[in-house]
Amino acid sequence: MKSKPLLRLALGLLISFTSAVDAVAVDGPAKQLFGAQTLPTVGKAQSVGFYAKGCLAGGVALPTDGPTWQVMRLSRNRRWGNPYMISLIERLSRDAAVKANWNGLLIGDISQPRGGPMITGHASHQIGLDADIWLTPMPKRRFTDQERETVSATSMLKGDTLYVDPQKWTASRTALLKTAATYPEVERIFVHPGIKKQLCDTVQGDRSWLAKVRPYWGHFYHFHIRIKCQPGSPNCTPQQPTGSDDGCGKPLAWWFTDEPWRKAPPPKKPVKPKVMMLSALPKQCAQVLEAPGPKSVEEVTYGVRGKAAQPASVGNPPASVAEPDDEEAPDNLPVQGQ
Ligand SMILES: [Zn+2]
Repeated sequence: MKSKPLLRLALGLLISFTSAVDAVAVDGPAKQLFGAQTLPTVGKAQSVGFYAKGCLAGGVALPTDGPTWQVMRLSRNRRWGNPYMISLIERLSRDAAVKANWNGLLIGDISQPRGGPMITGHASHQIGLDADIWLTPMPKRRFTDQERETVSATSMLKGDTLYVDPQKWTASRTALLKTAATYPEVERIFVHPGIKKQLCDTVQGDRSWLAKVRPYWGHFYHFHIRIKCQPGSPNCTPQQPTGSDDGCGKPLAWWFTDEPWRKAPPPKKPVKPKVMMLSALPKQCAQVLEAPGPKSVEEVTYGVRGKAAQPASVGNPPASVAEPDDEEAPDNLPVQGQ
């Protein structure tokens, strides 16, 4: 009888020790661990780390359909983002309908439910602040789930060249990109160099927004919006601002040389592919993997219930700061039709 309180204490210690250990995920390849998540964490939204090395807490889903958008490739379950990003996509879809005569947005990948690296497709999109939007307008009708898997976007390029096909590029596409680039939250928009050139050659009047439109490999079926670190995410690592140069001079000319398109010579010795481990991500990402999720997708779908209806307010900053990383790889492209 006398030993009972001690036993209880010992048991209590054991339990708290065990749960403390349980709370931290076992190390492993980050893309497998994050790729296996089907729901976000509940609670305040936070983008943790860098666009190409981080994770997302409190992500919300863009509804699969809205008056001016449809989400494509639903099976990938990548319609999750920081609420500020999701809200911006919704706003862009409405503004584009008015300002760009754009029927609606077809939405490609945003992020996984808890962000993090993906098994296929992208180096970035890890913290809920990147989104791919098709350069094909939404049709008047609703796509079926099956069509959302199989319908392809249209390449804006002329055949196999680096140049935009003038038959395909329209003023409405320029207006769509301008609408997105004009939002102060948007820091960068990635497009194919041919699209950047088209804008450089044709945009009249205000050209200041061209500074945010950056040439990159791929991105001829879709454009990629990246927004700044948002309030409530003290461990979000910002990227260098783009500055005010329109980027139409020397930096663009480089893309029309052989250098960016040259294939790397095969390595002399077989190289083991570098796998990003969970332990290489900011340390909060291990907690993000283990934190509890919601009971249903609806509960964390933007605009469906109270919690997800507005961008989250500023949360309590957890300790520690992510390592800065200036890698500017938005995608592992070329991957067709993304
Ligand atoms: Zn992208």
